[in-house]
Amino acid sequence: MCRVFRCAFLSLLISITLIQRLPAQENPEQTSQASTMTDSSKEILPQAGQTELEKKERLEKAIKYQKAKNVHYFVDQGYTILLLVLFLFLGISAFLRRQIERFTKKRFWVVAIYTLLFLILAFITGFPSSYYGFSLEHKYELSNQTFPQWLGEELKGLLVIGIIALISVEGIYQALKKAPRTWWIYVSVVFILFTVVLVNLAPVLIMPLFNKYTPLPQGELRDKLVSLSHKANVKVGDIFTMDMSKQTKTANAMFTGLGNTKRIVLGDNLTDQFTSDEVEVVIAHEMGHNLLHHIWTGILFSSVLAGIGFLIIHLTGLKIITRFKNRLKIENMADVAGLPLIFLIFIIFGIITMPFGPAFSRHMERQADKFALDITHNKEAFISAMNKLAYINLSDPNPSPIIEFLLYDHPPISKRIKFAEEYKF
Ligand SMILES: [Zn+2]
Repeated sequence: MCRVFRCAFLSLLISITLIQRLPAQENPEQTSQASTMTDSSKEILPQAGQTELEKKERLEKAIKYQKAKNVHYFVDQGYTILLLVLFLFLGISAFLRRQIERFTKKRFWVVAIYTLLFLILAFITGFPSSYYGFSLEHKYELSNQTFPQWLGEELKGLLVIGIIALISVEGIYQALKKAPRTWWIYVSVVFILFTVVLVNLAPVLIMPLFNKYTPLPQGELRDKLVSLSHKANVKVGDIFTMDMSKQTKTANAMFTGLGNTKRIVLGDNLTDQFTSDEVEVVIAHEMGHNLLHHIWTGILFSSVLAGIGFLIIHLTGLKIITRFKNRLKIENMADVAGLPLIFLIFIIFGIITMPFGPAFSRHMERQADKFALDITHNKEAFISAMNKLAYINLSDPNPSPIIEFLLYDHPPISKRIKFAEEYKF
């Protein structure tokens, strides 16, 4: 999907829906406890029938994979910033707006056409990087998608983002024109409402475009979950499985939606490979997110961050436009040719505030883990589920502390395991 747009508004939205995932990126401890680490890293990837040599190879593969992914992430950020700077400072953005104005002077249409063309350009220029991400998944045998399937989903994603972007950008430029001094307040308030609506609609409107969701069928697992839900005092009606194996070999679960669309979703890779005790612990973790209102907390967190972001755009945008008037050829903040500048400021703000999101997420994950242990009283299943996830998802057992600090939205796996081992009921 188009990263420029995702980086700005959508990263906030997406982070809210995805923040509640079960570990996808968990990493065993990499601290100074070297001696215990050697022991625990052997335990990290135990899979039945695996020889020591196979385990070791899997571990090396995981380290390589995560390293490549992290490098890609940072290169991609730099590349996006470079493209935005060139687009603005070579006057291409203003040129594009002038060309559109040759066909229509109507402000609404100028903003709409500019937004769509910008989105398409961003998709094309970002394609090599997206494709590299896809090929990385293949190289490490994590993907189940062919190139046409992958491309189809990318284009579908572009369409969804296009619709959301059109509405958002039109709204922002209306506010910028009508209220040049207070626009950022209006935009922040609308952003919250829009986020709430999107998080509510995503599970029924957006997510089914990419995967099939089916209620968990009757059987031993469902019976177990019913009794678990009685213990946790929550409704079990909304537990779904999704055909995640359509895209990937990795396993995951999430809690998503809001209000009447709240649900726990289990990937089929997870239900296929985990024992019912392990699945139970995973669901208990997701129930924890629900009962602890983590979606609302996530929305509140993102809203505060977005509000500050909009304020910074307000404080710096016009200054940059005036300072580089001759190069940018942008008239004022209400000129849609300044859209890449808004993204640029947002992305840089995102980089500065980068550690806050993951730190906040790690805190919520720890709370959900605690809930899962309390409700299931099953440390063994918790620990084996963690180990299995690390194994299947090729998690790096020893990431650098900086990477963990900046990117990891779940506590390292060995810390989660240690937490479970030492937990007193
Ligand atoms: Zn979680």
